[in-house]
Amino acid sequence: MTQTASRASTVRPFDARTDDILATLEKGGQYKHLQMLTGPMGPTVMLRDASGKSREVICMCSNNYLGLANHPEVVEAGVEGLRRYGAGTASVRFICGTFECHEAIENTIARYMGTQSSYTFVSCWTANEALYPTFAEPGDALISDELNHACIIDGIRLAAVIKKGVVKGVYKHNDLEDLRQKLGAVRSNPDVTGQIWVVTDGVFSMEGDIADLPALRKLCDEFDALLVVDDSHGHGVMGTTGRGTHEYWNMCPGAEGHDPSLGEVDYFTGTLGKALGGGAGGFIAGSKRGTELIVQRGRPTLFSNALPATVACSANKAIEIVLREPERVKALRDITAYARKQIGGAGFEVIDSPTAICPIIVGETSTAIAMSKKLLELGVFVIGFGYPVVPEGASRLRLQLSAVHTKEHVDAVVDALKKL
Ligand SMILES: *Cc1c(COP(=O)(O)O)cnc(C)c1O
Repeated sequence: MTQTASRASTVRPFDARTDDILATLEKGGQYKHLQMLTGPMGPTVMLRDASGKSREVICMCSNNYLGLANHPEVVEAGVEGLRRYGAGTASVRFICGTFECHEAIENTIARYMGTQSSYTFVSCWTANEALYPTFAEPGDALISDELNHACIIDGIRLAAVIKKGVVKGVYKHNDLEDLRQKLGAVRSNPDVTGQIWVVTDGVFSMEGDIADLPALRKLCDEFDALLVVDDSHGHGVMGTTGRGTHEYWNMCPGAEGHDPSLGEVDYFTGTLGKALGGGAGGFIAGSKRGTELIVQRGRPTLFSNALPATVACSANKAIEIVLREPERVKALRDITAYARKQIGGAGFEVIDSPTAICPIIVGETSTAIAMSKKLLELGVFVIGFGYPVVPEGASRLRLQLSAVHTKEHVDAVVDALKKL
């Protein structure tokens, strides 16, 4: 008997446990079956079916809010970057240097965000994993909205593990009164001797609602706290020129309508893998001293490779296009308003908000999953989210609009919804 065969015949504890978990997920309707795409991301996509053939469906579940993922200039900039720099430095930046394209995108991001400085990562997940453990010191308190993205939650957990004595707190979603209580509690906690941080998403991905940044700023000032906003779903979407939720609230330096009396967000994290090119990549934006500390001390910056040159070049071009063509942001707003009206008109309950995320509440988890399956048969690609991602009974189909969707696309989606 060969060694491989003998190994295959013994079921190790991990194998049995893993098979159990997978079977439980399948039984509970929570098993994720990955769809195979045979072409680029766009208003429609080519999906491969079981027979191996591709068919075109309307894509309503991508974060390609401005339609830049397959924009010819974005693609060309990436190809050009690959030719000029090759794949990468095959090392981390502090050892082998930084390409000029990294300097360029970081300058572009700072200009776009209205901040002094920015620093990039291979993802926003990594940016959050760098920020909290690097910025927080023992005696600091990190207070987070309960609906914040998973990578913020993990980043804060990691900070508390790496730096013993970092205090964690959670406040009820968008609840300023609860946040005030939590801030009061940490202020009078003798273990909290350092900086207090308040952390929020700009746009919340499951509800499509937004954080009240002026009110958060005021509260932070009252308690001498710093404000960090992850605006991954807001960049390219919110504000007249798509700079983000801070522009929407007139808190973006350099943008039209900026009101300095409202104060500023201290630090941002964001992704380049949604509206801003759709490839990958994330960033921290804020003061020069903050990004400098990340360069010196951030474990992901010290021990992990830079954003690939091709992605840096593509994302740089994407942001250039956003700033050059604010009409894309307006087109997104208009088509989203149209979609909300048509979906509501067809008798569905769609959560209202100024974002491009339109959750349709359908009730039970199994209903949401059955509806998304049926919609795919009808040529509409949309995902149903149920428990435990959202509360039981509030399962939903999450539709996300893109500036490149037309009214005809939306009408076809509403027709399909009516058939359910
Ligand atoms: C999507 C998202 C991320 C993850 O971004 P990646 O660049 O794909 O890692 C992080 N934070 C928030 C709030 C997000 O919505």
